[in-house]
Amino acid sequence: MENKQRYQALLDNINQYNSGTKGITRVAYTNEEQACTHALMRFCKDAKMNARLDHAGNVIARREGKNPNLPPVVMGSHIDTVYHGGKYDGVVGVTAGLEIIRRLNDKGIITDHPIELIAFACEESSRFGISTLGSKAMTGKINKQKYRHLKDRDGITLEKAFSLCALDFDAIDEADRSTERFKAFFELHIEQGPVLEMEKKQIGIVTGIAAPARFIIKIFGKASHSGTTPMNMRSDAFLGAAEIALALETAANQEKASGTVATVGVLDVVPGAMNVVPGEVEMKVDIRSTSTESRQRVVNQLEQIIAVIKEKRQLVIEREEISSEEPVLLSPEVGQSLKELCEERGLTFTFMQSGAGHDAMNMTGLGPVGLIFVPSKDGLSHHPDEHTELEDILAGIDLLEAAVLLYAGAATNPFHWRDCNEPYKG
Ligand SMILES: [Zn+2]
Repeated sequence: MENKQRYQALLDNINQYNSGTKGITRVAYTNEEQACTHALMRFCKDAKMNARLDHAGNVIARREGKNPNLPPVVMGSHIDTVYHGGKYDGVVGVTAGLEIIRRLNDKGIITDHPIELIAFACEESSRFGISTLGSKAMTGKINKQKYRHLKDRDGITLEKAFSLCALDFDAIDEADRSTERFKAFFELHIEQGPVLEMEKKQIGIVTGIAAPARFIIKIFGKASHSGTTPMNMRSDAFLGAAEIALALETAANQEKASGTVATVGVLDVVPGAMNVVPGEVEMKVDIRSTSTESRQRVVNQLEQIIAVIKEKRQLVIEREEISSEEPVLLSPEVGQSLKELCEERGLTFTFMQSGAGHDAMNMTGLGPVGLIFVPSKDGLSHHPDEHTELEDILAGIDLLEAAVLLYAGAATNPFHWRDCNEPYKG
């Protein structure tokens, strides 16, 4: 079978594990996700890999190289989805990895380094409100006592969900591989945004993954009758919120060069009646960047505007930081290799940052990481209409294959030996 049809058949096969009527629903630690996990393990074994399930439910499939003591070159992504998600988010990276193993088998290539393919469990936060659980477990970032009691919308705890999948939550630490070193880790993923499509590029080489700083802002004014309170005698909490939101937009626009973005995604207006001047507003703000300095400048602007609005509108405004995560920079060396491989293959590409989190960010603790994006139609993701052209996925797979061969060292192609056999000192 031609590679193209073989890959499409694999993608279709994985996506038949679905409990949704609209799009794909294959949520973490559910029956359909577990069935898919086991199907994937069978496919890996059919491709002569050694496949196992770790204590977090991650699938780890390994293809030995000439020297089993060398650190592995690892490809990975996830097969769980959001509720009513699409066919490509996560799945592309996992199926691409398997397609590459099949190609190596066809060509009879044995690499120097072992190659691993990982399907991370519970990447999406949809079910338990926590994202990249599998890769967190693999890199020793689990807070067992806190996570154990997380509940899904039906009240099932994470611990219970584990046991329903014949996994022991208490043993999740055993998935920790943070003392190991990978030669390199690669994730191929759909962009989930509009940039590649708009710029007509086949490949995005990701330089960093943005991290959010998040705030709850509470604004207190005075609720009063919308008919009898003259405009100049109001203390309207919503208008204060509106000014803050617009000022945030301006502040983020000034940081365009750093790709910083700011969003007010939640706004609760109290009492929320048409005939009452809003007395209270709670807004939730998300500010993201790969540059902590740039993000901080927007946060500073937010503080300034709050001080101004307080005075101007006679409001009480409270600001609480609910999280502030560190952005993750990916390996510049790997990025450079990917660029050269794109040029050799005539693939059009751009360097970009990722506004969304990925398993790749946790894996930076284990070795140099490369994250490759392929275009998303209309920038759409986490949606039944999510789409990536097969040709675009295949271009991504070609690049990933070349990168894996480069880092794993393949004797059949002497060109790919260069400088890649030194252990990672990170
Ligand atoms: Zn994903």
